[in-house]
Amino acid sequence: MTGSPNNPRINLLGLPKADLEAFVGELGSKPFRARQLMSWLYKRGEADIAKMTDLAKDFRAELVQRAEVVVPEIVKTQIASDGTRKWLLSGGNGQAYEMVYIPEEDRGTLCISSQVGCALDCSFCSTAQQGFNRNLTTAEIVGQVWLANRELGWKVGDDRIITNIVLMGMGEPLANFRAVIPAIRIFLDDLVFDISRRRVTLSTSGLVPQIYKLAEEVNCALAVSLHAPNDELRSQLVPINRKHNIAELLDACWHYLDEQNGRSVTFEYVMLDGVNDQRRHAIELARLLHGKPAKLNLIPFNPFPGTQYRRSPQAVIENFRDELMKKGLIATIRRTRGDDIDAACGQLAGQVTDRTIVRLGSKTFGLQVRA
Ligand code: SAH
Repeated sequence: MTGSPNNPRINLLGLPKADLEAFVGELGSKPFRARQLMSWLYKRGEADIAKMTDLAKDFRAELVQRAEVVVPEIVKTQIASDGTRKWLLSGGNGQAYEMVYIPEEDRGTLCISSQVGCALDCSFCSTAQQGFNRNLTTAEIVGQVWLANRELGWKVGDDRIITNIVLMGMGEPLANFRAVIPAIRIFLDDLVFDISRRRVTLSTSGLVPQIYKLAEEVNCALAVSLHAPNDELRSQLVPINRKHNIAELLDACWHYLDEQNGRSVTFEYVMLDGVNDQRRHAIELARLLHGKPAKLNLIPFNPFPGTQYRRSPQAVIENFRDELMKKGLIATIRRTRGDDIDAACGQLAGQVTDRTIVRLGSKTFGLQVRA
């Protein structure tokens, strides 16, 4: 196992336990060294191999030659009036991606990115307007949590500052399956952040084949961006729906729960004034999900420059929720956080230059590269 051709050293941050064990095996060490390394990296937040003092000297010397710990570089930090923090992280070559920390009374949620930009083209999302640049590596995905812990001043022995991780930042996590799966494995490892599987949530716009694959690979909570109660409307808002419709998507969700022994899927529903927020939409939505293991999370639309949409008025959002509850659904309204620093859902734009403009059409995810 080696790093890239230009850099023979491997980044320890991107390696799940099994890979780390294989790597220390190559260096002639026993698997318990991998556990020691993980403990240094994640439990103590140590990035300097030379300071990992209970590792045998020879092993440390060998490790310094062959491995390193590279964490994402911070370009900018912003703190909102409600305590929400947003970091802009460098993706090299003028690219940047974002992560957001949302403190609440009983928890701290870190919202992380999986790609620089996004190719899915949802009409109400700011990231989509940026186009797609590239997938993040596993190390960059895990590195976000590592870095946030450091920036938030977390120390060994302290209570966790980050109690929940959500893959709801920039990008479509299931379109970066190969890097996201090992990252989730790392998050769920007991030796890492002590976060239970119900507190790591992957949110997808609905890449159906990848939801089936996900069910075989990891065990985390699933959120799905539904946003409309019928195919006609959903296809306008979330274009991947033209490839995989709502019926197919829901089948995949119930399959996921069966395989994972999960309790429910959270369906995200952005509240767009006059578009999907009428009483008839609530009734249709309740019919669609009635009796199913589903929770509805209503997200007040967060505007960004150039958007054609407006946020539904608060009273409309509350009526919508009440209508769903009357029909027996569990529905909550997501509190909008960090909006004075554009850190709210769908406002993460990062910095995507050199982008590929992607539109619907081709095979894999129904995407066609235009330029
Ligand atoms: N690509 C993934 C995760 C990204 S976004 C997905 O689509 O699920 C996390 C949530 O924010 C999604 O439900 C997304 O649809 C929603 N969102 C996007 N833009 C938004 C906006 N402008 N206002 C409110 N929510 C938005």
